[in-house]
Amino acid sequence: MADGEFDYDLFVIGAGSGGVRASRVAAAYGAKVAVAEEYRVGGTCVIRGCVPKKMLVYGAHFAEDLEDAQAFGWTIDAPKFDWKVLRDNVLKDVDRLNDAYTTTLNNNKVEIILERATLTGPHEIALSGGRSVTAKHILIATGARPHVPECPGSELGITSNEAFHLDALPPRILIAGGGYIANEFAGIFNQFGSKVTIINRSDQLLRGYDEALRDRLLQISLIKGIDFRFNATFRGIEQTESGCLRVSMTNHEDIEVDCVLYATGRLPNTEGLGLDKAGVILGDHGEIVVDRFSKTSVDHIYAVGDVTGRVQLTPVAIREGHAFADTVFGGKPTAVDHDCIPSAVFSHPPLAAVGMTEGQARNAFGAVKVYEADFRPMKHVLAGRNERCLYKMVCDETSGRILGIHMIGPEAPEIMQAASVAVKAGLTKDDFDATVAIHPTMSEELVLLR
Ligand code: NDP
Repeated sequence: MADGEFDYDLFVIGAGSGGVRASRVAAAYGAKVAVAEEYRVGGTCVIRGCVPKKMLVYGAHFAEDLEDAQAFGWTIDAPKFDWKVLRDNVLKDVDRLNDAYTTTLNNNKVEIILERATLTGPHEIALSGGRSVTAKHILIATGARPHVPECPGSELGITSNEAFHLDALPPRILIAGGGYIANEFAGIFNQFGSKVTIINRSDQLLRGYDEALRDRLLQISLIKGIDFRFNATFRGIEQTESGCLRVSMTNHEDIEVDCVLYATGRLPNTEGLGLDKAGVILGDHGEIVVDRFSKTSVDHIYAVGDVTGRVQLTPVAIREGHAFADTVFGGKPTAVDHDCIPSAVFSHPPLAAVGMTEGQARNAFGAVKVYEADFRPMKHVLAGRNERCLYKMVCDETSGRILGIHMIGPEAPEIMQAASVAVKAGLTKDDFDATVAIHPTMSEELVLLR
């Protein structure tokens, strides 16, 4: 039951990963909860992010798998790819997940309000349908949206939001940015046969990942036919008479393509939310400033997920949402530990990491010891695919404690999830060495590092 003074104990704005988790856990603690969502229940990850993207990654990988299959004795006559079949199957599964999330909220007696909600006061919320409600606690979980560079003709490009709905595959695509989304979609479109060019404003891909892995991804991507232009900032996009897009940029010739995809970071969704009316303080990049318990500058207003600009990853938003509900409604004050979060880029091949890069470790610890395995997986050897994996373990030289693990190669994210438990637990290289290998696997390299 809501506190008599208010319509709800908790009003959540945004039914994405963080908002849904917080809503259902708070409701399970007995709170009267409503969640407002202006688009679709599930949020970016489920509706137009991680989940449909991973399905496209799977779909794209068949291009190489079918080619490699021939070395394993299979004859595959002229394989054909139909984008619309994959696209529609993916979108159908997104609908299923949207239903599943809705059902979860309904089962937990969370009221879903499919309207835009804005704050009109510290406890007051206006809904776009015209209703006003009040809540004792408010959680902002509005996520982030793609950043679109400002330049003439920028409206001619698309973002990852639209990439899932394309009518046809572009024969030539320019992807702006060198981060997660750029490298993941570059791999996807390249495997589907589009000519892919990545342009990035600096000379680095995937800033924050270990340099050796980034170099390896660049080398493999070049071999696969992806073009890169570095130190290139958008000047503008023009539509030509034939309907193509001519892109001009600094330091490079113009390029003509059929599609431009922006993957230049994501901005917190804080504009027009009325946060100023409630006294919520924002940071320099428009993100909501929160403490370790996800509390904003206003005592009864909290924020979780991408809108806080801490770590823009779904599992982190989910943890923050859960911790918020435990703290405020479960009587268990819980701060999320943002240290040593494993992550992965679902590029072709994927890479994954946990802990410090070699550079970060050297800065922090001075003396570090680095172990590496640079090898061609058995499957690639037989297929004649000249693509090498690289695994790196960075350890504190004195104690042997593992400070970071970095991997690029098939299934690296799957292997990393297990390896990251060991790093988080503070294990040492000796602990890995004491573990017997599973042979023959790629992951055995982790316990055989020299
Ligand atoms: P990233 O932060 O990964 O990369 C942004 C890229 O865009 C960088 O190469 C950066 O260049 C460039 N850039 C940033 N701002 C500008 C600008 N104003 N003009 C031109 N270029 C710019 O962002 P993404 O959009 O790829 O992804 C957003 C976030 O979503 C990620 O940070 C990640 O947290 C999350 N995500 C996670 C995924 C996963 O877990 N697998 C998958 C997809 C997204 P430079 O580095 O040179 O400054």
